[in-house]
Amino acid sequence: MWHRLLDLLLPLCCAGCETPVQSALFCAACTATLHPGDGDCCPRCGDIRLDPPAGGGTHTCGRCLAEPPPFSRARGAYAYGGALREVVTAWKNAPDHTLGPPLARLMVRRAAATGWAELARDTLVVPVPSAAARLRARGFNPAGVLASGLARALGLPLEPLGLGVGRAVAPTRGLGWRARQRRLAGVYVGEAERVGGRAVLLVDDVMTTGTTARAASRALLRAGAASVEVAALARTPRD
Ligand SMILES: [Zn+2]
Ligand SMILES: [Zn+2]
Repeated sequence: MWHRLLDLLLPLCCAGCETPVQSALFCAACTATLHPGDGDCCPRCGDIRLDPPAGGGTHTCGRCLAEPPPFSRARGAYAYGGALREVVTAWKNAPDHTLGPPLARLMVRRAAATGWAELARDTLVVPVPSAAARLRARGFNPAGVLASGLARALGLPLEPLGLGVGRAVAPTRGLGWRARQRRLAGVYVGEAERVGGRAVLLVDDVMTTGTTARAASRALLRAGAASVEVAALARTPRD
């Protein structure tokens, strides 16, 4: 109660460094650490290159050429790093529920640049679901919070139950790309009666290797979705 009241009376702080701010999530210095995810990236999967070769422009990455992804296109609103990484970590692991809505707004801010604002009006917004154990431990699905904020801002229909988790999966951290893909095969299950025939915007919080996006997209297409595009708050840049 008193904490709530103090929050109202005290000036707001930057989520990255605790500098007082008016209403934004980040102060100017932390905002400067945000790197837009739609610039120098693979046009298909959104793989970000923070230092593209001089005069290089953007071209389809080797992975998309070798194994085209099941989704039509993927973009991150920002590169994963700097103040954003700290805030997302705090949001997901603390967890601090006050951070969800401003993080969704950060994503909305990139909707024009990423093309999400141009999607057909009947595109269904579907979050990547959390595994049951994660959901119990954390109490919320980060991708679900972002999907709901994005759908509301873009005026698109939200389908939080379009995709489910079919079976428990052992952690994939540290596994190579191919081993990750094998472990995630069949983990997600699309709900045919919810996504059948629909263009889907699949939303995730952080897109790293793209194996989750691929597995989730494949499940949606198998359930009859007409197409899948992927929107992430943050995309881990290529080393
Ligand atoms: Zn700051
Ligand atoms: Zn690519």
